[in-house]
Amino acid sequence: MILPPITLTGHAQKEAWQNKVLPPVERLGQDVWSIPVPFPGNPMRYTLSYLLLGAGDAVLIDPGWDSDAGLDHLTAGLRQAGLGLTDLTGIVVTHFHSDHLGMAARLRIASRAWVALGDREVRRLSASEDLDLVLRTHSEELTLWGVPADRLAEVAVNRLELTHLRNLADPDLRLIDGSLVPAEGLDLRVVTTPGHSPGHICLVDEPHGLIFSGDHVLPRISPHIALELPGPANPLADYYESLDLIAFEDAMEVCPAHEYRFSGMQRRVAQLVEHNRERSAEVLRVLDRHRPETVWDIARHLTWSRGWDSLQAFSLRLAVSETASHVVYLRSQGHDIDVPVTEPRPAVSR
Ligand SMILES: [Zn+2]
Repeated sequence: MILPPITLTGHAQKEAWQNKVLPPVERLGQDVWSIPVPFPGNPMRYTLSYLLLGAGDAVLIDPGWDSDAGLDHLTAGLRQAGLGLTDLTGIVVTHFHSDHLGMAARLRIASRAWVALGDREVRRLSASEDLDLVLRTHSEELTLWGVPADRLAEVAVNRLELTHLRNLADPDLRLIDGSLVPAEGLDLRVVTTPGHSPGHICLVDEPHGLIFSGDHVLPRISPHIALELPGPANPLADYYESLDLIAFEDAMEVCPAHEYRFSGMQRRVAQLVEHNRERSAEVLRVLDRHRPETVWDIARHLTWSRGWDSLQAFSLRLAVSETASHVVYLRSQGHDIDVPVTEPRPAVSR
């Protein structure tokens, strides 16, 4: 099905995206700035961090991946807006992933700003957790999903990643759906949009006509919706519901955390729903044709942009966990799929 396209508004960002360079710092209005922060070694290349200036507050949305170069870019961007690091009073993070929350810990020390996450966002790993046990459980789960023994070490989460997750900032504040970010002179409403992560939030700024969509809605790629262990029972169902919640503001400009700005939220939501429905339909076709016995077997018969054989390590894990999320979703829709998937355990939210 051909759906109407979105309207590009971040022209400089799109050009930079195509030229594989970092987009410029941009002023989006009197009190709003877009500051790209490098995301080293990742095809997304950068996180778009947003600075909002209120009467007495300066709030940063999604500070990005933690690196010295990232901090330099952020500091230079703040300087362009006439601010230093110590002027920041608040840091709002759309979800816990390292390319969003990563630099928050360091910025909090430098600025004493509070750090806020959505109230449903999980902490994947508490400081007291036994890493060996986490690693072992994860491997067992992947084995159940059919990951072959000789690929397990490559696909499974590793000790370095877990240590990284452990070092992410704990939030000082939790933001409830429908509430306003507690900053003087700002009108930023929280919309809880689980799917890409269990407690992802978007922020709606009606006075400026802007929606900060994090990774919930991006202009070009479809956000990764994975069955994560531990995590919510049916993340794809959550994602569909969350797309409905944010689809109402078609005239507003969407400020995503990656790629480029655009308008036409309803059009983009329709595309994302269609994309995921198409993917679920493909999973059903694979089940019908190939009679796969595991999630891994389904995944290797699906189409992947650069081909199944090109997927390795982290991207392979994403592929398998995305396939698992479709299996769980299709089952919840009444499809009888006889492929083992672990019941997700609830994750701790603090
Ligand atoms: Zn991201």
